[in-house]
Amino acid sequence: MYVDIHCHPQFKTFIGSEHQAERKNCWTNLNYDLDFKILDSQSSLSQLVNGQVKLAVVPLYALENVFAKAKLIQLAAGLSYNAKKRFLQKIEREAYGYFELMQADMNHLLSSANISPDKQFTLLSSGSQFDPTSKHLQIMLCAEGGHNFYDNGQRFGQTQKVIDRLLYFKLPQSPRLVYITITHLSHSEFCTHAFGMKMLKSNAFNPQGRGLSNLGKRFIREALSTTNGKRILIDAKHMSLLARQQFYALRAAEFPDAPIMASHMGLTGCSWQRKPVCKYKYDKKEACYEVTYHRQPGVLDTYFNSWSINLYDEDITEILSSNGLIGLSLDQRILGCGTPAEELVSPDEFKDTDFTPIVEPRLHQLRVEDYDDPEEVKAWHLRHLCNHILHIVKVGQPKVGNRVWKQIAIGSDFDGLIDPINYTTHAGAFKFLFGGLVEWLPRMAIHAGVDLPPTEVQQVVKQVIGENAVEFLRKNI
Ligand SMILES: [Zn+2]
Repeated sequence: MYVDIHCHPQFKTFIGSEHQAERKNCWTNLNYDLDFKILDSQSSLSQLVNGQVKLAVVPLYALENVFAKAKLIQLAAGLSYNAKKRFLQKIEREAYGYFELMQADMNHLLSSANISPDKQFTLLSSGSQFDPTSKHLQIMLCAEGGHNFYDNGQRFGQTQKVIDRLLYFKLPQSPRLVYITITHLSHSEFCTHAFGMKMLKSNAFNPQGRGLSNLGKRFIREALSTTNGKRILIDAKHMSLLARQQFYALRAAEFPDAPIMASHMGLTGCSWQRKPVCKYKYDKKEACYEVTYHRQPGVLDTYFNSWSINLYDEDITEILSSNGLIGLSLDQRILGCGTPAEELVSPDEFKDTDFTPIVEPRLHQLRVEDYDDPEEVKAWHLRHLCNHILHIVKVGQPKVGNRVWKQIAIGSDFDGLIDPINYTTHAGAFKFLFGGLVEWLPRMAIHAGVDLPPTEVQQVVKQVIGENAVEFLRKNI
């Protein structure tokens, strides 16, 4: 049984047309004959079923204005003819508000709930409704980005109106959200975001500001509160380091029983007090500090991506101590397989955190280009996922003991414009993950110095690929 706690099965068919009647349903596999596979379907509902995924947590998401402008997204919308381009142009011209787009996105997904006897899914409103023996795919909802709740089209107007939109989702009759990431890849009114967009260029992707805003704090409080409806968890993904630290402090002081969600994550492989900084400079054009990192080595021949969008060791212990759940992304770049690039940091936050350059860590002798056989590259990518699992265990075990094995899950981020690891390029390939992890995790564990008896390997892998997420959702949602 596989569970994916973060994937976007409806995204690519949603942006394909302005009108619901013209959109292809979410079971459709889109395949463009292009060199880069990033635009092909990765987690259509058909692919999820094919990959033996029983439960998926699916974000509702209004396409941010700055993305609508991007050529790549226009390509993803299948813009061979102009009619379809109009939808993105309208988003760009702010003809659609974000809340309206989020609702249209939800309706698009739900309209695929019962297409034919073999194309059905069940929408759950609590973890206890999950039935592992059901023959249908089961889906729970979440939301990606605080902008979805803006009250004035694509702009933030009044705090209370934004909060009212959040509270709507806490009503007993409304669709249940498991968690919300309060920011995404472009500027938001809730908090400073962590830089995460290398592919597309625009200043709107550059982090600005300093941590949580008052709106952000209020939003977190209303989401986590249990006196105004059912709790919606807060996902630490996409928040800047300072915003995360402020969120942790707020949660510990006011909602100590609320677990922290981290749904589609990678790790930096280091402490936030010792980042592998090579150099930095202020970039006037970007209005940000540009930080260059050394490559942070992991176990065996793997690496981490040290961008602050990924979790530092202190983030890991904070999330684990809160009884939270870390979902690991299957994005090559996030998992550290890609060539390291510069990160942009908000100038207001730059001075709050230590970016002193350090001596280059000792790198592996083996270079990426040494793997030219596709099968070897696939295994190397898979080892990056193993490296992440083992690093969480190594960092977490002294703090929470063996419970750490129960706090790791998969949040692939398929169809979130990612370039997935070659081992699992789409959700249909999920079914091979069990065998791959059973093969590599114990071998890597020896190198990591993590105790993993052979008799426990299969059980541990089953937990990570599905059981942990189910148990977490049953307990908390
Ligand atoms: Zn995301």
